[in-house]
Amino acid sequence: MKTRKTGSEPISPARRKPAPLPHSRNQPSASRKTWYFNTKDWLAHLSQLTGLDYYEQHRVFGHKSGALIGSLDGYLACIGLGRSDNGRNTAVRLVLRYGKSDDTARIEQCINLAKGHFKTIKVSATSVVATRIYVFRKPTPESVAEDLTRLITILKSIVHPLNGRCEECHRTEPNITLVNRVPRHLCESCKNQLRQQLGVAAAEYAGIKSNLPRGIFYGTGVAVIGAVGWCVLASTLNRIFVYVAVAIGLLVGKAVIMGIGKVSLSARLLTGTLTLASVFLGDVFFYTFDLMRVTSGTSGAGLSFGQAFQSILGNLGTVMADNGGVASIIFALVGAGFIVVKMRTPKFEPVFESVAPNQTKP
Ligand SMILES: [Zn+2]
Repeated sequence: MKTRKTGSEPISPARRKPAPLPHSRNQPSASRKTWYFNTKDWLAHLSQLTGLDYYEQHRVFGHKSGALIGSLDGYLACIGLGRSDNGRNTAVRLVLRYGKSDDTARIEQCINLAKGHFKTIKVSATSVVATRIYVFRKPTPESVAEDLTRLITILKSIVHPLNGRCEECHRTEPNITLVNRVPRHLCESCKNQLRQQLGVAAAEYAGIKSNLPRGIFYGTGVAVIGAVGWCVLASTLNRIFVYVAVAIGLLVGKAVIMGIGKVSLSARLLTGTLTLASVFLGDVFFYTFDLMRVTSGTSGAGLSFGQAFQSILGNLGTVMADNGGVASIIFALVGAGFIVVKMRTPKFEPVFESVAPNQTKP
């Protein structure tokens, strides 16, 4: 079978129905022993086994190899390679979509009986999302296809297929659209409705009155707490960690957004500044306590906190230069930079990607 790599058409449209599955476990199969170093070959083979089309351009699960997308017995199915939910492991990821059902508890119960090698299962009223973690060696396409066939079979007994109809209004809509990377049957009018709903949500968000003074108040409070934490850690462990600066950034960011009411440019700048200030203040506290300890050790009547604090502030440049303060500056910048980049205005605009319809090969 020849493969095509043009435009938005399926790369390796396998036209076979998933009829011959599942294989008997005792049946000898050459590909069971195959190591698939090439992810695209793995997906192409799975495409042939399942009848789902392979689209390299649709990175549904974030992996550059793309994904298999199509309809199986009226249910929408999408399989690809990606990461586990926590992002730590490589995994085969699967999404199955069906007609809306209220009985998610029963679906979950049945799916758990049929999930095979898939471990993490998330069930909603319209979809099942499953993940199969693997280390180094991908599972054989045959075993994934077997699990898929079993899952589709169980779905048939508990939920309605979509049968190429719009998920919202049930008009005939055989085309598949990725809505923010989720494969769906959605007609043009329902797509427009979704755009409008999200447009209203975006307008509402833009209309939220921001409260900068409250953001400054909340953010400063958390920044001071963060500074104390930084100082305590530095004093007890005698080390500083970049993660602590990042954690301070996250907490300050949360407080600032809670205070201001929404993410805005001023919220981001304020958070970045307060994160930097928090780490610096933490360092100043650390040096202050250190100076108090040293002076009380030598003369017996040491400096008070206020005196030591003033003395450190007056000579901060020299103190930091003498005590490896560069690391603190770098960590503070990393923490502040991290949170400023991470804080984004929520996206309301849905991203639609058309999945080219199946075309019968000549
Ligand atoms: Zn519709």
